[in-house]
Amino acid sequence: MTVTFEAGRCRHAAECVRGLPEVFDTARRPWIRPDAADAGTVAEVVRRCPSGALRYERADEGEGRASPPPTGAADPE
Ligand code: SF4
Repeated sequence: MTVTFEAGRCRHAAECVRGLPEVFDTARRPWIRPDAADAGTVAEVVRRCPSGALRYERADEGEGRASPPPTGAADPE
């Protein structure tokens, strides 16, 4: 499983860090370790990301990402 992060989209809501601290730890480099938990759990937390900054790709399931912000929402950048 691969997890990618787009820093420009991150709203620092910390859903990832709170949801799965063993995978998402900003004090560490690299700060995302997808193998530190089972793929289903990592995918679930990635889908909780409110900004779409996190995405994952699973060999068995294809690509996934958090829901994009509602249409018409102001761009945080
Ligand atoms: S859940 Fe998404 S928006 Fe929140 S800190 Fe993590 S990457 Fe950033």
